[in-house]
Amino acid sequence: MQNITLLGATGSIGISTLDVIARHPDRYRIHALTAHTKVVELAGLCARFRPDVAVVGTAAAAQELSALLKSDGVSTEVSYGEAALCAVASGAGCDTVMAAIVGAAGLAPTLAAARAGKKILLANKEALVMSGQLFMDAIAASGAILLPIDSEHNAIFQCLPQPYQRNLDHHGIARIVLTASGGPFLDRAVETLDLVTPDEAVAHPNWVMGRKISVDSATMMNKGLEVIEAHWLFGATHDRIEVVIHPQSVIHSMVSYLDGSVLAQLGNPDMRTPIAHALAYPERISSGVAPLDLTQLAKLEFRQPDLLRFPCLKLAYDALATGGSAPAVLNAANEVAVEAFLDGRIGFRQIDQLIDRVMHAASFEAVADIAGLLDQDRHARQLANSFLTS
Ligand code: NAD
Ligand code: MG
Repeated sequence: MQNITLLGATGSIGISTLDVIARHPDRYRIHALTAHTKVVELAGLCARFRPDVAVVGTAAAAQELSALLKSDGVSTEVSYGEAALCAVASGAGCDTVMAAIVGAAGLAPTLAAARAGKKILLANKEALVMSGQLFMDAIAASGAILLPIDSEHNAIFQCLPQPYQRNLDHHGIARIVLTASGGPFLDRAVETLDLVTPDEAVAHPNWVMGRKISVDSATMMNKGLEVIEAHWLFGATHDRIEVVIHPQSVIHSMVSYLDGSVLAQLGNPDMRTPIAHALAYPERISSGVAPLDLTQLAKLEFRQPDLLRFPCLKLAYDALATGGSAPAVLNAANEVAVEAFLDGRIGFRQIDQLIDRVMHAASFEAVADIAGLLDQDRHARQLANSFLTS
């Protein structure tokens, strides 16, 4: 029996994870569920999955959750705040942590799980983009197991030899090819992009996801973050990570070997496949995903990404090439920009413009520890916010 802490239980990945777990009650037990503000939803999940602990964002939310659980006769212990998130991610009650909080807020508990040597199913790409080497060092020091949930990285993992040594040359790999759907604005006239609304931006053609990652998909910053994520997960330099637009989202990514072989992982675009893969690894379990019917697919297309349409992709490649704190600064500026866009404070094209301004104004330093990293993150957010109000 695997005991699971699910960080971000009320989100898109959280709900898909619970869907897979509910299909295999003989294998998985929920130790802890966490949510930031959706207290009523979390109470419902506690009634259904009966975790030992539930964690929310604030004391007021914790009080509300306790009252709801009491009236439902659910004995789950309730706590709140970052220290509580870290405790359920690193404590003896769990073996496996699904890291599915969105954004930098997920860094502390995901890192706590890494330091505690847990099996980590990583959806929260921002945590790895921010902390890079520090995170990988924590994994190596504790012997934690890191399995990617992002569909592209999960696909690559499945196409790599195991055990993989985080070195392309060692395994005769030429490059890693990340596929990208291109999002909702792949074919929209570029000059009209600044008029798009948040609702249009989050209407992804193939995937149903949270709002932040949906906007990231529309700007292709999501793919940029994934290039950085692939660098850390697979030990690939930026010049050996390629992005190809594949609007059907059936090939989830590929590994290209020196002998000309290209291994790909295919499937319907449904996150329950990578979630089930990582939960059961190295075994295989059913996920509830419909089998892929290749005869129903009229065609599979591939195109080069247009960096004028998607400047965020270039900004991310540049940040990876720069190194040091540049990816963390990029991530912080992007989080500020996406929030401002979703709140209607800036237009769609101002997302990349704001990030570009921050990347030009910031200084990038090597980060020796998490405190230094959080300083850089804070400073980048201040800079981005100052540009927003100037
Ligand atoms: P979501 O917005 O649907 O859910 C986010 C979850 O994080 C919620 O449970 C929310 O309560 C919690 N949360 C938000 N802010 C928090 C805070 N400050 N403190 C603690 N908890 C907080 O997001 P999602 O689409 O499920 O994405 C989650 C992560 O997975 C992201 O990093 C995203 O990039 C990654 N991811 C998602 C998908 C997908 O299909 N949705 C695919 C690949 C990767
Ligand atoms: Mg992805």
